[in-house]
Amino acid sequence: METSSARHDELEHNLAKVRRRIADAARAAGRTPEDVHLVVVTKTYPASDVVALADLGVTDVGENRHPEAARKREESGAAGAALTWHFVGGLQTNKAAAVARYADVVHSVDRPRLVDALDRGAQAAGRRLGALVQVNLEGHDDDPQGRAGASAEEVLALADRIDATDALTLQGVMAVAPLGADPDDAFARLAEIAAQVAAAHPGATAISAGMSGDLEAAVRHGATHVRIGRSVLGERPLLG
Ligand SMILES: *Cc1c(COP(=O)(O)O)cnc(C)c1O
Repeated sequence: METSSARHDELEHNLAKVRRRIADAARAAGRTPEDVHLVVVTKTYPASDVVALADLGVTDVGENRHPEAARKREESGAAGAALTWHFVGGLQTNKAAAVARYADVVHSVDRPRLVDALDRGAQAAGRRLGALVQVNLEGHDDDPQGRAGASAEEVLALADRIDATDALTLQGVMAVAPLGADPDDAFARLAEIAAQVAAAHPGATAISAGMSGDLEAAVRHGATHVRIGRSVLGERPLLG
């Protein structure tokens, strides 16, 4: 699987910059840089980039769509890359079993039926799966399209349901800051919800928050996993 040396150098340069941003943000918040894990979101980019990232020391990658994620895990694995795969996108219930066959952690668990479908799928595949409750930080539930994420009121019940499964391990919470809102306000609210989940489930301390544009705010509010795409791989072409 070929990556041009120019692309390799570009990824190396971008990764170094992102790692520096994470370390600076952690230190500014009085935190240890090693406590903030980098998940590189490789959606829309080829498996060759995934392999190059693994060569550069990346351990965790994220994808938001099935079957793109499955194909890239397969291709990069065949080329020798051993990575932890995070599924971070909206997930239809009827695709949950397929995703449970290859994802290691699903960040976007936002409803009871999805919990049950992932659990059944993981059991059928003889696997265990990490699960995070995706929290909707929009602050209102009147969007007819149904924004991704559970409302703050639903989070604890969903966490309990995940914890009661056989094949899912509750790891914590995940959120995307609402477009146009102050990310510090959003991630402060997420931190409160995360504390409630961790109080009820002491092992569930992960906070997946922060993308290319707002990772500093997320780290200030306790993010343990930042999900970074564009700042490492470049701007994605707009998809139709
Ligand atoms: C694409 C995506 C990211 C990465 O966003 P960037 O702005 O490219 O860093 C993070 N989280 C989710 C859920 C995504 O879909």
